[in-house]
Amino acid sequence: MSEPSVFTRILKGEIPSEIIAETENAFAIRDIAPKAPVHLLVIPKSEQYRNVVELAAGDPELLAELVALANSVAAAHSDGDFRLIFNTGPGAGQTVFHVHAHVLAGVLDESSLGG
Ligand code: 5GP
Repeated sequence: MSEPSVFTRILKGEIPSEIIAETENAFAIRDIAPKAPVHLLVIPKSEQYRNVVELAAGDPELLAELVALANSVAAAHSDGDFRLIFNTGPGAGQTVFHVHAHVLAGVLDESSLGG
């Protein structure tokens, strides 16, 4: 059994981070190193899926729940428009292998495409 992910530790309260919204199976926090005026992360409460490809194959309803939560936090924290990014694999910049979506909003430019 590997160590719990940083996001699981945040969910358990072991690492401080405000949970800004949650649903039955997912939660949202602010990214600690924002790449856009609004940079939030939406994350399944379970770390069963390492990336969005595994999540889509294993639990498409949970993927839809993540997208709905992204929409809701983008509306609450910005004007409702947002960019949704799932870095998938180390070569694409993924560093935490507990699937999560970056929600980028506010005034965006190409430099925020990498999440
Ligand atoms: P990835 O690089 O895997 O797509 O995204 C991981 C994200 O998690 C990064 O943008 C990073 O800034 C964020 N992150 C890593 N550790 C923490 C933390 O302890 N708290 C918060 N709020 N975000 C974190």
